Amino acid sequence: MKCLVMFSGGLDSTIAVHLMQRLGFDVLALHYVLPFYSGLGLSHEVIKARAASLAVPLRIEEEGQEYLEMFKGRQFGFGKNVNPCLDCRIHRIKKAAVVMDEVGASFIVTGEVVGQRPMSQRRECFDIIEKQTGLKGMILRPLCAKILKVTIPEERGWVRREDMLDFWGRGRKGQMAYAAKFNLSYPMPAGGCLLTHVRTAERYADLANNNPDFSLNDFKLLAYGRHFRISSALRFVQARDDTENDPLGALRLPDDTEILLRDALGPAGLVRGEGSEEEMLLACSIFVKYTRERTKDLAAVVLTKGDTMRVIETAPASEEVCEKFRI
Ligand code: SF4
Repeated sequence: MKCLVMFSGGLDSTIAVHLMQRLGFDVLALHYVLPFYSGLGLSHEVIKARAASLAVPLRIEEEGQEYLEMFKGRQFGFGKNVNPCLDCRIHRIKKAAVVMDEVGASFIVTGEVVGQRPMSQRRECFDIIEKQTGLKGMILRPLCAKILKVTIPEERGWVRREDMLDFWGRGRKGQMAYAAKFNLSYPMPAGGCLLTHVRTAERYADLANNNPDFSLNDFKLLAYGRHFRISSALRFVQARDDTENDPLGALRLPDDTEILLRDALGPAGLVRGEGSEEEMLLACSIFVKYTRERTKDLAAVVLTKGDTMRVIETAPASEEVCEKFRI
């Protein structure tokens, strides 16, 4: 019998996959990629390696516009920052139900542990998820199934309650003991996705205030670089290092202006929106401040917008100016 395991690659979902494999199920791991990392040609090597270590087939679903629509239309609000965890779970499980039918799986498995996360892993939340997804009884949470209501896979004898686990709460001792017993490798447990970070929340607040109709591309941009609000209509983003140049380049729109140093390699800048020449110069001076030419009196930068290219020389901005405009 086949089951579909929602697989983040973390400790809990690793155990969920392993346990279902041990019980003899034909497991397919389903991994969702947040919009920030979707559509950019990333190869998702880390999650592939995690799945390979469990010898489980992996299906990767990159999320885009539909995730943003869920985010904007969220029913259950945000958690501590801009993480719409309950809506996110509902959204993803609904999509998983479609995959379940497509691949002929009989039920959905998650690595959720009751009481582990305040926003989406409480018993009431599990009930809400079942109601909203129309999957009552069809979601098995083997890490804590022993202390939850009986599910359809148990009622139908597909799994036995005594094979399930009874983990609960925020501690991970039980999970770590399980992993040690079966020699499972796993990444250090983390707090949540990028949407749970304070810095993302600050950037999001700035974006939503200045551009309530923000696009998927604007949303993705929140994940990269340093951000500066030059005016309500002009945002400047600078890659923190060369590795962010590629995603920034992939997100560049025809009307955006790219900024690069003329005489040295380094991180790229991206200006989005319309502004005066003075505002553009300000963006350039901030840009220089975060390059290897920051100690020069004047640095030459190349501005490219569409087919138009020009060079301007500017002094680096002061720390105070950078801080004043930093989001
Ligand atoms: S932490 Fe992020 S990915 Fe996880 S449920 Fe919350 S919003 Fe979704």
